[in-house]
Amino acid sequence: MRRFAEKRLLVATHNAGKLAEMRALLAPYGVEAVGAAEAGLDEPAETEDSFVGNARIKARAAVTATGLPALADDSGICVDALDGAPGVHTADWAETGQGRDFSVAMARTWERLEAANAPQPRRAQFRCTLVLMWPDGHDEVFEGVLPGQVVWPPRGAEGHGYDPIFMPDGHQQTLAEMSAEQKNSLSHRALAVNRMIGACFA
Ligand code: IMP
Repeated sequence: MRRFAEKRLLVATHNAGKLAEMRALLAPYGVEAVGAAEAGLDEPAETEDSFVGNARIKARAAVTATGLPALADDSGICVDALDGAPGVHTADWAETGQGRDFSVAMARTWERLEAANAPQPRRAQFRCTLVLMWPDGHDEVFEGVLPGQVVWPPRGAEGHGYDPIFMPDGHQQTLAEMSAEQKNSLSHRALAVNRMIGACFA
């Protein structure tokens, strides 16, 4: 496991929320997080069929464009009775032709479960894969998995994406019924980030 000894890290995301979260988490270790928009980066096409493959595409594009070490993530929801779908296509299921609508993505997920006559509980996991890549091409990979079930109808107004239909194990609330603080204490992304900090930064 390689330790991170650099001063600056390109966080390969255009999502302002993810960038702010990374910046705060890495500040205690003297690391300056630079965002993808700030660095003028485009979003590369995610053409792989695995989370790690797509996270590597994003990390490699950022390293090549800036010469800085880069951190990229790829995430999604995997439903057991749908053989792991939507998985790497999680965001695609929200495409409507006029932008993304996650109420459409959630309805698609439930309709497919109904069509498959899937037994209850309808098990699923949120997964997050992080790739930390150095300018010489070396990388370290970290994963976080949040197990739970898909519920219907959607509940709660917090969060984003599929949060209203996902209830983590050990909880009676969906992720969208939790405060941001509570979600961030248990999420797949928090698990992966904490693993990376323990291994490379602490
Ligand atoms: P990407 O990792 O930015 O390629 O997108 C993954 C997709 O998975 C997003 O569009 C979200 O809808 C979904 N997703 C990832 N993490 C979460 C989460 O914590 N809650 C709800 N949806 C999520």
